[in-house]
Amino acid sequence: MKTTYLDILKEKLNKDSVVEEISKNSKNRKNKEILAFKVLISTVLSARTKDETTDEVSKRLYKKVKNIDDLINIDIEELQELIYPVGFYKTKAKHLKELALMVKNNYNGKIPNDINELVKLPGVGRKTANLVITLAFDDYGICVDTHVHRISNRWNFVNTPSPEKTEMELRKKLPKKYWKTINNSLVVYGREVCAPIPKCSKCIQEIKETCPYYDKLIYFNSLLNKYNFRKISKSNIPNEKGTYILKIKLNGSKVIEYGKTKKEKFQRGYYFYVGSAMGSSSNLKNRIGRHLKNENEKKLHWHIDYLLKYGNVKEIFITNNAVECEVSKDLKEKFEFIKGFGCSDCGCDSHLYYLKP
Ligand code: SF4
Repeated sequence: MKTTYLDILKEKLNKDSVVEEISKNSKNRKNKEILAFKVLISTVLSARTKDETTDEVSKRLYKKVKNIDDLINIDIEELQELIYPVGFYKTKAKHLKELALMVKNNYNGKIPNDINELVKLPGVGRKTANLVITLAFDDYGICVDTHVHRISNRWNFVNTPSPEKTEMELRKKLPKKYWKTINNSLVVYGREVCAPIPKCSKCIQEIKETCPYYDKLIYFNSLLNKYNFRKISKSNIPNEKGTYILKIKLNGSKVIEYGKTKKEKFQRGYYFYVGSAMGSSSNLKNRIGRHLKNENEKKLHWHIDYLLKYGNVKEIFITNNAVECEVSKDLKEKFEFIKGFGCSDCGCDSHLYYLKP
């Protein structure tokens, strides 16, 4: 595992995630109970909420609600008003009230220092529980949110389909000295640079030089250049012959049946499909047009159309060269291929390739 990336981030980042900031700035760092209360509540509030909003709402809330008893006693409407406009504020207010009662009744009013107990609280998942353990109790935990999951996969630390599985893999592979800090580093970097659409031009040079994900992205761009591909819009597909690549995004993992008998789990992420329109009766406009038809209009003619029932075509590249199989063979050098998607008369393993999100 290339933990040097984490060392570089630790050295170069001079910013903290919002909950880390709240924890560091807390006047009660020595009082673990109050610190645990604040880390727990702010993490619950932070889900699907901008950092600035979590920060502002947390400050307003802690002026009025300082401990579990205050949370039990506050009226739910007043609590909703105090935490507005965090995402799902009504559900979160309800969870916070239930959580406070449960802490009072089951844990003697003290936030438990145990992940397995913390996850029993309403609105608390493993991500929140791990953050409370690391930030408030200064104990070992690995808080895996969407950023840690995405970047750990991009860097090949793990090869996992969900944050829960990423946490379990990291617990096996990641040296303990990184457990408490990986979340802060990757949340900050994941928001600003290695985002869902990565801003590689802004990446720290030492990371970019060996990043396995960047290697794939530039390899794909070099293939586009090599075969003279150009990007076109869905509404402007020319009536010409040539080869095309569809970049398809699948937003969630899905078991898809295709052909007459095949069934496969497709992971969330990007798929590159290579096809061509070179025959006397076909052209790019009608060939790609068929893939783009909506579900009701589309005849399930090719295997790829079964995937396209669930995935969205994000980008289309075309070239007037007859290079379908050459491109497929080149893609195989760096990308994982999905079996069963070759064309009927070529010897390629597949014309469908996968890239993690
Ligand atoms: S080079 Fe790109 S993909 Fe790699 S870490 Fe940097 S931003 Fe992320």
